Amino acid sequence: MDRQKRDGRAAARAHRRDLAKGDPVGLPLVMSSTYHLPGETAGFRGYGRSANPTWEATEAALAYLEDAPTLAFPSGMAAITAALMPLLKAGGRLLVPSDGYYTVRNLAGRFLQPFGVIVEQRPTSAFLDGGVEGFDVVYAETPSNPGLDIVDLAAPAGSTKAAGATLIVDNTTMTPLGQRPLDLGADIVVSADTKAIGGHSDVLFGHVASRDEARIAAIRDWRTVSGSIPGPFEAWQVHRSLETLELRYERMCATAGYLAERLAGHRAVHAVRYPGLPGDPSHNLAKAQMQSFGFLIGFVLPSREQAERFIDACALLQPATSFGSTHSAAECRIRWGDAVEPGFVRLAVGCEPADELWRAIADSLDRVAI
Ligand SMILES: *Cc1c(COP(=O)(O)O)cnc(C)c1O
Repeated sequence: MDRQKRDGRAAARAHRRDLAKGDPVGLPLVMSSTYHLPGETAGFRGYGRSANPTWEATEAALAYLEDAPTLAFPSGMAAITAALMPLLKAGGRLLVPSDGYYTVRNLAGRFLQPFGVIVEQRPTSAFLDGGVEGFDVVYAETPSNPGLDIVDLAAPAGSTKAAGATLIVDNTTMTPLGQRPLDLGADIVVSADTKAIGGHSDVLFGHVASRDEARIAAIRDWRTVSGSIPGPFEAWQVHRSLETLELRYERMCATAGYLAERLAGHRAVHAVRYPGLPGDPSHNLAKAQMQSFGFLIGFVLPSREQAERFIDACALLQPATSFGSTHSAAECRIRWGDAVEPGFVRLAVGCEPADELWRAIADSLDRVAI
C-alpha cells in the first residue's frame, strides 16, 4: 500500500459514516453477556462468547487499517494461539524464530510439542536458509524483537506457497501503518495490540487478520469454542486508542530515527541497531518492505551494571518491559534471558518531544560513561 493510500485509510478511519441522526459519535460500550432472542436464532447475536457490538466496532476499525477481515482477542498471545491452533495437529511441522518474542517459543515447546507438533527454531537473520519445504506453518516476526533483524517477507511468501505452508507474520512492532505483511504475501497477520495500537500501557489486546475466508472462519471458531474472547471495555479502550494511532506512531518513529543517529555518535554506546540507520544490517530490506523504520532501538553499553544505571538515572525513561506506549521505556533484555550482550538495552521510543528526550538520555549516558 503506498503512502497516500495508507494515509487515506488512517484519515477516513477517524470518521464514522454509519451513524443515524441522534446516534452517539463516541463508541457505545456494550456490557452484556446475552441478547434479547425470541424464536429463531440464525443471524442474530445470542450470547456474549460469540458476539459483542463493541468488539465488532473495534474489529471493523482494525480491519479497515489491515484491509482484511480481522478478529479481536484478549491479548497478543491469545491472538497468536488462535492463529496457530486450527493449523496444527500431531505430526504437523512448525517453524518459529529462535530470537523472536519468547512466549511464542514457550507455547510451541511446552504446549504444542507435547501434543505431537514438530517444532523447529531458526534465527531471524537466517530464517529462510534451508528452505521451508515440509513445514505446515512458518511463523515469522519481523523486525525481530529485540534484535531487529528482518525476514524478506516476499521471499518466504513465495516459497511457503510453493511448499504448501501457511505464513503467519507477527506485525506487532510495525503496526499496519508501518508494514503490510498481507500485501507482501503473508497468509495471516497477528498483532499484540497491547503495544503501539493500545499505546497507553493500560490494556492487553490482540488481533488476527487474514484475507482467507476459511482461515478466518476457523480462527473465529477457535475463539468461540475456547472462550478466548476480548472484554468489551478493553475493545472500547483499543477503539479509542486507534483515534490517535497515526499521530503517536509517526511521532515515535520520527523520534527514534533522530535518537538512533545521536546514540550512534555517543562515546559510551556501541552496536546501535535501528533499521533506519544506513549502515544497519537490516536497512536495505527495511527500506524495501517497510513503510517506516519503527520505534525500537537496540544498543550496547559496556556492562549490564552501567546499562541498569543509565536506565534508572534517566528521568524520561520508564524502567519497564513492553513498548509502544506514550512514554519511552528501556530495559536490559538479558534479564529475560534473551541471547544478547549483558549491556544490551532495548529502547522503546515514546511520544515525548525529541529534543527533551535526547537531552535526558545524553545526560544519563554522560553520567555512566567512564
Ligand atoms: C508483547 C508481544 C506479544 C504478546 O502480546 P501479549 O499482549 O503480551 O500477549 C507477541 N508478539 C510480540 C512481538 C510482542 O511484542
